[in-house]
Amino acid sequence: MSVNRRSFLKAAGLTTLSLAGGKALASESLKKPWIDSGGLKAKRWAMVIDLSKCREQEGCTACTDACHRVHNVPEFENEKHEVKWIWKEPFHNAFHEQEHEYTRDNIKHSKALVLCNHCDNPPCVRVCPTKATWKREEDGIVMMDWHRCIGCRYCVLACPYGSRSFNWRDPRDGIDEVQEDFPTRMKGVVEKCTFCEERLAKGLMPACVEACKEHALIFGDLDDPESEVRAILKERYTIRRKPALGTEPEVYYIV
Ligand code: SF4
Repeated sequence: MSVNRRSFLKAAGLTTLSLAGGKALASESLKKPWIDSGGLKAKRWAMVIDLSKCREQEGCTACTDACHRVHNVPEFENEKHEVKWIWKEPFHNAFHEQEHEYTRDNIKHSKALVLCNHCDNPPCVRVCPTKATWKREEDGIVMMDWHRCIGCRYCVLACPYGSRSFNWRDPRDGIDEVQEDFPTRMKGVVEKCTFCEERLAKGLMPACVEACKEHALIFGDLDDPESEVRAILKERYTIRRKPALGTEPEVYYIV
């Protein structure tokens, strides 16, 4: 069953609140467990990130903190050992081919939230010799099996977005409080964002989406014309990172 805004409303019995209470509705819906329905499902998961809302909350790390906490992502002081699933990148680095001399200063000097784009045409998947990473047919998520990863790092080189991190150290050395319900990885394997597939299976939205009180991150089914992501893509002008490469990212940005 495809879960969209309408089915959220039905399931939660909130039909009358409708779009007028968008923000309240989103946070209300996020709390509802859809576990009975076998989790959240979509034909093509996608995300929209509203950078204008992020800029209003400069310095906010709610989404990155939430993601890294629930996924046992380590923190190391040495940048060479850095592991990141979702992070902030200078706008210039993230969108350098899309800015120009007259781009507004507040945008040019801002930071953009970035993560794995769960590309429709993912080069990382093509180069993996062990099929430790693959694009899930049913919903387009680019998955990782850390047990199958042999640490060759072909995928790290193939990803044009720097979305993959290699564990140069034992991640447990960099985790303050291990979350026992999510596996820690080993030294010598690659990891990245998985659009919180483990949370979707439990009927929960991605941790970053849930953590953002500004509703700057919108997640839903791109294949469903009634979904919120589709409504936003229709109403607002959005861009993607490095579109010329043909990777077809499924993370869209309102700048
Ligand atoms: Fe692969 Fe990088 Fe695209 Fe993610 S962003 S699917 S790691 S190529």
